[in-house]
Amino acid sequence: MPAQVINGKEIVSAYRARIKEEVENLTRQGVQPGLAVVLVGDDPASQVYVRNKAKACGEAGIYSEVHTLEAATSEDEVLELIDRLNNDPKIHGILVQSPLPKHISEEKIVEAIAVKKDADCFHPVNVGNLMIGKDGPAPCTPAGVIDILKKVGVNIAGKHAVVVGRSNIVGKPMAILLLRENATVTVCHSRTANMAEITRQADILIAAVGKPKMIKREHVKPGAVVVDVGINRLDTGKLAGDVDFDDVLDVAGYITPVPGCVGPMTITVLLRNTLEAAKRTAAMQQSA
Ligand code: NDP
Repeated sequence: MPAQVINGKEIVSAYRARIKEEVENLTRQGVQPGLAVVLVGDDPASQVYVRNKAKACGEAGIYSEVHTLEAATSEDEVLELIDRLNNDPKIHGILVQSPLPKHISEEKIVEAIAVKKDADCFHPVNVGNLMIGKDGPAPCTPAGVIDILKKVGVNIAGKHAVVVGRSNIVGKPMAILLLRENATVTVCHSRTANMAEITRQADILIAAVGKPKMIKREHVKPGAVVVDVGINRLDTGKLAGDVDFDDVLDVAGYITPVPGCVGPMTITVLLRNTLEAAKRTAAMQQSA
């Protein structure tokens, strides 16, 4: 029997409707959540991501600003902008779209963002808090994956979850969140030996590699839940995930499509993080 294809659109639209309602409530109380997105340079994929984020904000009633800076912008100019946004009461979340041009240190920029306005859990303080289980912004893509798993009724506790990829923005926080949900977690990467042997043990397999269609049927245990984080642009112009969808379809139990599942869910968590940051501001204003 072919895998059940997870209906990302349905999950995302229900989730965003709830966020919109909360945004409206908070706005009525005098605090409209606000997100600032900073884009440096003219990477076409980044331009699409930023446009999608701004559009999603608009639809949810979240105020948004997109700051588009030329590729030649200096690091100091970006830092000045971050400083302005840190002090702007209309803005509750700040996101700097990566990749940044080579002459700008991603680390310096991320560390300049106020911890409470870090919209996607990139700041080292928030990463540390995530590690030790303290409250803070959710890492957008991994938290979106957990939401998807829960929404389709996957019982994560006690399952063997294998994450392929160990980047700071996807693989590592993904592993931490799965641990928090009481999965037994294995992380694979480019130096993993006999990877298919390991991934075939996975009840839940998360692919976050950046290599189109790399995960084939021989990597998948029959009935496994396969979540594809990858977004790869093929020479044909089409998008493909890290999982060879057609090859894996009749082996997996559940599978996420690309595009249309983890990508929009990631943006949804970004909206939620902005909302939560605005709620904290509102609570502080009330108690002052
Ligand atoms: P990175 O390039 O930062 O990390 C890729 C990871 O995959 C690395 O840990 C690397 O290992 C590992 N890897 C590379 N080749 C292999 C291999 N042959 N076998 C096993 N592991 C391998 O990518 P990201 O984590 O940023 O992104 C991963 C994918 O997810 C990309 O397609 C990206 O576009 C997509 N993405 C999607 C998002 C969404 O919203 N849906 C958000 C963010 C990313 P090593 O560490 O050893 O080099």
